[in-house]
Amino acid sequence: MKLLEIISLYYKKINSIKNINFKSFDFKNYHLKRIGKNNLFKEKKGSIFTGLSLLFIFCFIISIILILNFSMSYQEIISASEDSNSFNYVIENHNKNIPVLSKVVISKLADDVIKNHNPSYDSREIVKDEIQKKLEKQEEYYQLKNGINIENEVLSVYNGKDPFHINVKTIVNAKKGKESYSNVVESVVSIEGLKDPLPFLMCREHPTLIENGTKIDYNDALSYYMVKNGLLNPKIYENATGSLIIRKCIYDPYKIHGEGYCMKNCIDNGYFHESADGSCYLCRLEGKGSCYHYGLEVFIVPQPKKNINGNITEKSISGSDHVLFNDHYPGNIVEFFKKDDISEILVIDDSHRAKYGIL
Ligand SMILES: [Zn+2]
Ligand SMILES: [Zn+2]
Repeated sequence: MKLLEIISLYYKKINSIKNINFKSFDFKNYHLKRIGKNNLFKEKKGSIFTGLSLLFIFCFIISIILILNFSMSYQEIISASEDSNSFNYVIENHNKNIPVLSKVVISKLADDVIKNHNPSYDSREIVKDEIQKKLEKQEEYYQLKNGINIENEVLSVYNGKDPFHINVKTIVNAKKGKESYSNVVESVVSIEGLKDPLPFLMCREHPTLIENGTKIDYNDALSYYMVKNGLLNPKIYENATGSLIIRKCIYDPYKIHGEGYCMKNCIDNGYFHESADGSCYLCRLEGKGSCYHYGLEVFIVPQPKKNINGNITEKSISGSDHVLFNDHYPGNIVEFFKKDDISEILVIDDSHRAKYGIL
């Protein structure tokens, strides 16, 4: 009995537990599901709001950073533009201006030399003194406009490695309040665009040569010079033409002058060439046809000839300007261009033929 009672009690208990468990689980589960859904929705809603606020704060911080950055760079621009009126900017501008002023000085000297047919006795010293004067005028300007004390001392005017350049060395000292500057400024002045004074000085005894745009018409000035110096066949250089304005030849290496129309274009443009024998620009101002500096040479071109047939045996002095004006060695006539029965010619020696690739 006892065993039966125990079994029946045990069974009832299990049953009741089962029932209770089943009901409560079902109900709770259902309830939980409902609660869960609501919570999830609420949670979702909450997280959207939280996300939006975070995004808003993030945007706000970014905007602040951007505004700060902008105002900082704006401040920098303002201080940079303030700086443009300031010490370093003025000094930099002043230094850039030295070669510009120097070229004006050299050009003026060349004009005077050409006009008066009178060589400069010491071009380097004269150019140096004139640049010094110009810079001193600038000193007053900077003092008045920027309140900056600038002092310049031109140390030297000299040849650089490139014969198309002249170098100027200047000590520049400057002071404004606590700011100061001291430097040796080396300026490079291009001589391109300046007039060649040499022909006017070499032919100064009989100066019938004239400027004709970018060229020189020699008229009888060069043939007179040749007669005077007892040179071969002066007649060929009657009414010869030469180059007035210094321009650097574009046909480099020079050997390509022998190809196509290069020589014709070179002569038409009056290009100048580098030459160890030709005189440098500063010595040209002194009337020297030759100097020990690395220099320049340009062709002097006889009048075109009519009806040249076959080999021309006529000779004269080679038409590189330093040869005509200094070394005087003979050359043969070379036709570098022909149209109809008119031949454009040069008198040229063997070494210049080789230099310019003329066979
Ligand atoms: Zn050339
Ligand atoms: Zn020289």
